[in-house]
Amino acid sequence: MREAATRFIQVALPLPLFQTFTYAVETGLANPIAVGSRVVVPLRNDREVGICVGLTDISPLKRKPKPVLESPDAQPAVGGALLDLCRWMADYYVVPLGVVLRTVLPAALTGANTPTPARKTRRIAQIGAEIPSLIERDKIFARAKQQRAVFELIESLGGRALVENLNEQLDFSPAVLKSLEKRGLISIVDEEVERDPFAQRGGLSSKRLVPTAMQQHAIDEMANAERGSVFLLHGITGSGKTLVYIELLRRIVDERGQTAIVLVPEIALTPQTVDRFRAAFGDRIAVLHSALSEGERYDAWLALKRGDKRIVVGARSAVFAPLENLGAIIVDEEHESSYKQGETPRYHAREVAIVRAKAEGAITVLGSATPSLESWSNAMAGKYTLLTLPDRVGGGKLPGIELIDLRKTAVDYTAMAQGGVDYGAVIREPLHHAIVETMQRGEQSILLLNRRGYSSFIQCSDCGAVTTCPHCSITLTHHRNPERLVCHYCLHKEDPRPDCVRCGGRNLRQRGLGTQQVERLLSERFPAARIARMDVDTTSGKWAHTRILDRVAAGDVDILLGTQMIAKGLDFPNVTLVGVVDADVGINLPDFRASERCFQLLSQVSGRAGRGAKGGKVLIQTRLPNHHAVRYAVAHDYVSFVRDEMEGRKDPLYPPKVRLANIVFSGTNEEATAKLAIQAGEWLRDLITTHAADQIAVVGPAPCPIERIKSRWRWHVLLKSDQPSELTRVPRYFMEKFDAPAGLRITLDRDPVALL
Ligand SMILES: [Zn+2]
Ligand SMILES: [Zn+2]
Repeated sequence: MREAATRFIQVALPLPLFQTFTYAVETGLANPIAVGSRVVVPLRNDREVGICVGLTDISPLKRKPKPVLESPDAQPAVGGALLDLCRWMADYYVVPLGVVLRTVLPAALTGANTPTPARKTRRIAQIGAEIPSLIERDKIFARAKQQRAVFELIESLGGRALVENLNEQLDFSPAVLKSLEKRGLISIVDEEVERDPFAQRGGLSSKRLVPTAMQQHAIDEMANAERGSVFLLHGITGSGKTLVYIELLRRIVDERGQTAIVLVPEIALTPQTVDRFRAAFGDRIAVLHSALSEGERYDAWLALKRGDKRIVVGARSAVFAPLENLGAIIVDEEHESSYKQGETPRYHAREVAIVRAKAEGAITVLGSATPSLESWSNAMAGKYTLLTLPDRVGGGKLPGIELIDLRKTAVDYTAMAQGGVDYGAVIREPLHHAIVETMQRGEQSILLLNRRGYSSFIQCSDCGAVTTCPHCSITLTHHRNPERLVCHYCLHKEDPRPDCVRCGGRNLRQRGLGTQQVERLLSERFPAARIARMDVDTTSGKWAHTRILDRVAAGDVDILLGTQMIAKGLDFPNVTLVGVVDADVGINLPDFRASERCFQLLSQVSGRAGRGAKGGKVLIQTRLPNHHAVRYAVAHDYVSFVRDEMEGRKDPLYPPKVRLANIVFSGTNEEATAKLAIQAGEWLRDLITTHAADQIAVVGPAPCPIERIKSRWRWHVLLKSDQPSELTRVPRYFMEKFDAPAGLRITLDRDPVALL
C-alpha cells in the first residue's frame, strides 16, 4: 500500500541533462508546492534551486526519493503560460528545461545567495573642465606616462570613472591620481550611489503627438486585429514607428486594461525611445536595462508579477516578463542580431515573442526600416500582415546619399608605418568639406566606422606575419590609452612588441583603421571641434552611453564618431551630416548574412541624418560602390535589395529559403576535435539514411570560419531542412545519444544568426 502522506514532485534543475528529477514532499515545509513553484533540493553534496514541473502520487524510482528541503514561494514563481513557453523553448532549441527556466527567472530567484544591497557612496575620478588637446598632452605628460595613461583611461570611459574600475584596468599607485588632482587635471569626489537615472530622466514634454493618416491606419489595423495576429511594421527611418507603438499601447493597456511587452535591441543605446514611453505611460512602465543590480531587477520583476506595472520595456530577456492578460508584444528593430542569445539557451527573442503572444492571445508587432529577410518572406507568404509607413513624419525627406569611391584616390600606405596615417587618406575631400561646412553652420555630424581600436592589426613588412591572439585565430587589435594589443574575442591583452615574432624584423606596420585613430586624426585636423567617440571602449561605464548621447542632444558635441552603436534609433534634429568612413568593414566576412548586415547598417546610419527641418545628407566612402548592399542602401531601396539578396540564398541554400541548425564541436586538442566532428557527421548521415529522413541535409563537417576561439579548436556540421519538426527531432536525438569524450564540447545553435 502507498503511504498516503508522501507525495512526489518532478523537478527541473539547471543541469546539462535532458531529464527531470523526483523528490519527496514531506510535511513541515513553509509553503505548499504547486507546478511552477521553486524548491530547494539536495543534489550530490550541495543544495540547488529547481522548479517543480509535475506532481505525482507514485515515485518512478526504486529507492525512496530524497525530500525537498525548502519551498520558498507562497505563489508559484513561474505561471502556467510561462512554463508552457519554457517547455516549447526546451523542445525547439534542444536545451534541458531546467536550463531554460534558469534563463527566464531573475538571477535573484535562482541563485542560492540573496541579492546584496548596493553601497551608499563610491569614489569617482572626473576630468576637469579643461581637456588638453592631444598635442598639448605630449608636453603636459612628457615625463608622466602613467599619469597620461590614467588620464586617458578616464577620458575613454566618458570623462568619469569609478576609481575602483580604473584600478582593475590599470596598475598604478594612488600617488598617480593624487598628482593628477594636484595639477587640476582631474577631481576626485565621493558621491552617493546613483539611483537608476532612467527612472529620473525627464525633460520630455508629455505633449501628445497626433498620428498621421498612415500611422493611424496602422494603429487601427493592429488594435482591431484578431488575437494572435503577427504584424510586420515596415517604416522607413523617421517615419514615426515609436508613436505607432505608443498609441497602440494606449488602446491595449489604457482602454482594454491589458499588459504589454516592448523589446528594444539595447536599452542603453535607445534612451530617447525609452524616454518617450516613460513620458506616455509614467510609472506604469518598468524599464529592464543591463545596468540594474540583481536586486533592482528582482523588484521590477515583482512589480510586473503583482500587476503594479503593466508595460515592460527591455532587451531580449524582457520577453519573459511575468505579465498576465498580455495584449501585445512589440519587437522594435526586429532585424537586430542582439535578439539572439549567444549562449545556451540560444533563443531568438523575436521567435519566442511570436510563440508567447500566440499562446496568450496577444498580437505581435515586428517593427523595422530594414526587416530581416525571414520576417519579410513571412509577410510575403501571408503569415504576417504587412503594414508600411513609407513617409517621414512632418513632411521630412530621406537624406540624399552620395558615394565616395575610395579606389579613385591613390593613398600612400607606407605612411602608415609609424602610425602616421594621412588624414586625407582617411577622410576624403568631399567628406572633409562636408564636415567643415556642417560645423560652420553650427550643425552636427555623425561619423561611422564599424571597427574599434586604433588600428585593426599589426603586420611585419619584412615577412608579412600578422600578430594574432595566442588563444584564437583572430588578429590582435592595436589599442591606445592604454597602449596594448587586444583580442576582441577572448579579451587577451598584451603589450606591443618592437619586433616581429616570426623573423625578428623591426618594420612593424599598423594596418586597418579603428575609431581611436580616426578620433586622433579628427582632433588634430579640427583642434577646436568637440568630438565624442562612442564604441565598446568608451561605454564600459554604467551610464556612459547615456552621458555621451545626452551631450549630443544638448549640442555639446560637433562630431559624434562611433561604431554600429551610433546607427540605432538616435533622433537628433541638428545632425545634418552622416559620414561612413569605410562602408566595407564586414562586407566580406565568410557569413551568409554579411551583405544583409551591411545593408541594414548603412540604411540605419543614413537614417540618422536630416531628421529635423534642416534636412541632411549622407556620404559613404567605399571600395565596393557596385555591391548590391551599398547600391540599394544609397537608393533607399529595401525591396530591390531583398530581391537580389534572396537570389544569393538559393545556391547554396540559406535562410529564409531553408532552416538551419549549426552543431559546433570544440576542444583544446585540434585532432580530437576534428575526429569528433567527422564521427558526428557520419553518425548523422547514417541516422538519416536508416530513418529515411531525407528532408534534412547534412553539410560538413568542416572547420568553423574562426577555427579557434579561447584556445578551443572549432569544427561544425550544418543541418538544413525546410521542415521545422525535422530540425527538432534529429538534433534532439543526436544531442541525447551522441556522446562527446571528456574535454570536448558539443553545442547546438538552432536558427543561427551567424556561422562564424
Ligand atoms: Zn617578420
Ligand atoms: Zn583571443
